[in-house]
Amino acid sequence: KNRVNILGTEFDNYTEKQFHKYLSDDMDGRSNRFIVTPNPEIVLSARENQEFSSIINSADYVIPDGIGIIKGAKTLGTPMHERITGFDTLMFLIKAANRKQLKVYLLGAKPEVIEASAKRIERDFPEIDLVGYHDGYFKNDQEIVDDIVAKKPNIVLVALGSPKQEFFIDKYRYQNDAIWIGVGGSFDVFSG
Ligand code: UDP
Repeated sequence: KNRVNILGTEFDNYTEKQFHKYLSDDMDGRSNRFIVTPNPEIVLSARENQEFSSIINSADYVIPDGIGIIKGAKTLGTPMHERITGFDTLMFLIKAANRKQLKVYLLGAKPEVIEASAKRIERDFPEIDLVGYHDGYFKNDQEIVDDIVAKKPNIVLVALGSPKQEFFIDKYRYQNDAIWIGVGGSFDVFSG
């Protein structure tokens, strides 16, 4: 794979349009995929955490969320097409899921935030089959994973903050074929 290395994090160099086309095909094929959208803080924290770094670099898509990454790539002599944010990726997945009538599971954020996010999906994206949601302050991973496996979502949106969300996805993704993405604080914005 042809990736651009920024301080140890290996980014894919796609235009947003190309990336969306790949994701669309992944959704249609029910492929198992893991998307990470590192910003400069994540790149720096991955430098201090070898396990986190390996998890990021083994994801299917490593997408530059932040103009600092694009500037860094240029300075290093390996320019990249464009910034693609985690939030925009979340919105693309939600809109595509609505169009394709897919099953979606929401995991993470505070109870009132995830509740409001679920309500917004039901209101604004009525063709989505919202199969489940849970806040991000659970004790027992296995109960959550069992719920996800039982409900078979096509897309799992995970908002546990970094690196927690990436460790979670890396550990459990192969129990359910879906697009898995760590969306950080995005539900706090999405919920309105
Ligand atoms: N969060 C969570 N469980 C945790 C820690 C954080 O659900 O154990 C949620 C938090 O409520 C917020 C999101 O993770 O909605 C992102 O947190 P933060 O802003 O700290 O992370 P970042 O966006 O910088 O990755």
